[in-house]
Amino acid sequence: MEKFLLVAAEEKGISPDIDELKQLARTAGGVCVGEKIFKLKRINPAYYIGRGQAEEVAKFCEELNAKTVIFDFDLKPNQTRNLEGIIPAKIIDRTRLILDIFSRHAHSEDGKNQVELAQLEYLLPRLTGKGIFLMQQVGGIGVRGPGEKKLEYDRRRIEKRISVLKRKLKDLAKRRQIQRRRRLKSKIPIVAICGYTNAGKTTLFNALTKAQATAQDKLFQTLEPLTRKAKIFDKEVIFVDTVGFIKNLPPQLINAFHSTLEEIAPAGIVLVVLDISDPLWLLHREVVLKTLAELGFDKIPKIFVANKCDKLPQNFVIKNEKNFVYISALKKEGIEMLKSRIYEEIFEK
Ligand code: GDP
Ligand code: MG
Repeated sequence: MEKFLLVAAEEKGISPDIDELKQLARTAGGVCVGEKIFKLKRINPAYYIGRGQAEEVAKFCEELNAKTVIFDFDLKPNQTRNLEGIIPAKIIDRTRLILDIFSRHAHSEDGKNQVELAQLEYLLPRLTGKGIFLMQQVGGIGVRGPGEKKLEYDRRRIEKRISVLKRKLKDLAKRRQIQRRRRLKSKIPIVAICGYTNAGKTTLFNALTKAQATAQDKLFQTLEPLTRKAKIFDKEVIFVDTVGFIKNLPPQLINAFHSTLEEIAPAGIVLVVLDISDPLWLLHREVVLKTLAELGFDKIPKIFVANKCDKLPQNFVIKNEKNFVYISALKKEGIEMLKSRIYEEIFEK
């Protein structure tokens, strides 16, 4: 396990979600040995945090013998270089961390291509003057290409590879569209399962379809959409499990992410899975709804699935809101009720 230190910032009075960052880092195979949260009045263009704060991080690193520092924000290429000049460790920002996680979880040809493209677009402006690959450090978080390939490119090769990947992805998108049309013709209604990462989508997908997909307490376990036919009472539907949403998704990944979410387009209904036991569930719901709207899916009817009810305190007052179904996907509670709601929405409207 790679030992790392976390650095986050409270900006404009908004405190960072340290738990989420830790979970992301854990998903990338690291173990957190210390954290620093700085209050920032303004962003220092040279270091993002203040120079004195960077020196504090450097000292902390030496004390704890941490070889990696993970920053909870995105760093400009010059900021990373400047921080590397002060801090004797590998500097990983939020985008590089999420790219790393995506690279571990991309399995299909399409997913691998998308992630490689995103990684190369991230690398390109970070090459040093001579066009040498910037990641001199070997191994560990943030230096892995898709399928554990080592990332090693120079500028010319990167540019060439980017255009090859773009072409491949275009072909794949065309093929997917043909498949989708075929599925649409089959007239079997589609139920898409969406939600913030770790909300319990895959667990629910399994409960609804009796599938055995891996549900894990890690972020972005599911990168490619999983599709499976199942019956709701007497009628067939297709369930689609999708990649999890997350706030501040790296811009390089928005495309990759959106293309895997195209599977939602033909859905007759979207289940928005919420981890109701997470104090941040409302914020997470907002991120999900915003992204769905950006993708043009705001018109598709939704059912809000309040999951992980088993973790709620006994005295929790369940609001009887329309469009909310309370379940525990893990304990398989409330699943029949949810099925009835889906059935009503699809077959009785
Ligand atoms: P996804 O990222 O949305 O697909 O989430 P997963 O289905 O992989 O689940 C994330 C974690 O939450 C796993 O450890 C699950 O076992 C756990 N989980 C899912 N549903 C429930 C639930 O109803 N109750 C509890 N306590 N845990 C759950
Ligand atoms: Mg999942």
